[in-house]
Amino acid sequence: MKVAKALIDQLETTKVLTKEEWLYLLEHRNESLSQYLFSHSRAAAQSVFGNDVYIRGLIEISNFCKNNCYYCGIRRGNPGVNRYRLSQREILQCCLRGYDLGFRTFVLQGGEDPGFRDEDLANTVRIIKEWFPDVAVTLSVGEKSRDVYQMFREAGADRYLLRHETYLRSHYESLHPNSMSWERRIQCLEDLKSLGYQVGTGFMVGSPHQTNECLAEDLLFIQRFSPQMVGIGPFIPHHQTPFAKEPAGTLDLTLFLLGVLRLMNPRLLLPATTALNTIAPQGRQMGILAGANVIMPNLSPEFACKNYELYDHKKYSGMENAEAIEKIRNDLAKIGYEIKISKGDFK
Ligand code: SAH
Repeated sequence: MKVAKALIDQLETTKVLTKEEWLYLLEHRNESLSQYLFSHSRAAAQSVFGNDVYIRGLIEISNFCKNNCYYCGIRRGNPGVNRYRLSQREILQCCLRGYDLGFRTFVLQGGEDPGFRDEDLANTVRIIKEWFPDVAVTLSVGEKSRDVYQMFREAGADRYLLRHETYLRSHYESLHPNSMSWERRIQCLEDLKSLGYQVGTGFMVGSPHQTNECLAEDLLFIQRFSPQMVGIGPFIPHHQTPFAKEPAGTLDLTLFLLGVLRLMNPRLLLPATTALNTIAPQGRQMGILAGANVIMPNLSPEFACKNYELYDHKKYSGMENAEAIEKIRNDLAKIGYEIKISKGDFK
């Protein structure tokens, strides 16, 4: 316990640990170590962001996907999905409503949909940036060529989310079919970074076959790559995927990892994700108290949100009415935090 606590102190000072040290910390994780970590990680977040929480409006633009990731509910091989693709008009309507509610970042996320032309998406980004000059646009539409990423960037996209999912190659291969490649995933992240995006990566917590070694590799990769954002959330099984019978990732481990990520980089944009809020009733608040500083409420139309089912029982914090945002505001106020109306760029 003394050694593990000392490692947390060391992480707070130097921002890095070795693989052996990460493994030691993960293996010695327990309730009292977690509480020690959270008191430090929460203070680290507050030193940069005070009691502000940034909000990002998530718009799920398409659930068509050419990929067949074993964990994901909208994989190509799931015939049970009601496929949809939002029109430009529908996307812009989400933005208009979101802007009124105080959102200054829109996250356009979707499956890798060959029917959604890259030029059309670039055009939509251009219009959003014209209509709302004070918002940031984040894209999360998977693996694309460097040229396409460049086109999106020139259209005005500010940020890009692409989780590496897991850094250990053999683990990556156990989560994805052969048609997908670990090298390509990492190359995409390098391309995004070189194009000047604020880049977000991340991984699922407790995905099938994940070991502490996998997590240590993930943390080492994040140390090296130094992204501006990191998205992590528990793996949650979806009943129509090959991983239907696998157990979900845990709340405790997810919170612990949020805490160490915060200590690795106090300025990191770190969301308390929907998946975290799905496995625990107070997941969002617990994430904030462990060091997260971003939440991503859903701005998608209800039919889209319901059919963008990456995992079972995805929580729907629908923003159809202003009451939903009031509820979030109240939940945050109870723990002493407030929504900041701001683009919330990485500083
Ligand atoms: N096609 C885009 C968006 C993917 S969905 C892309 O490739 O980046 C966003 C994230 O949801 C994924 O990166 C994955 O980490 C997460 N996800 C998918 N299925 C999940 C599941 N069953 N449980 C928890 N998270 C999941």
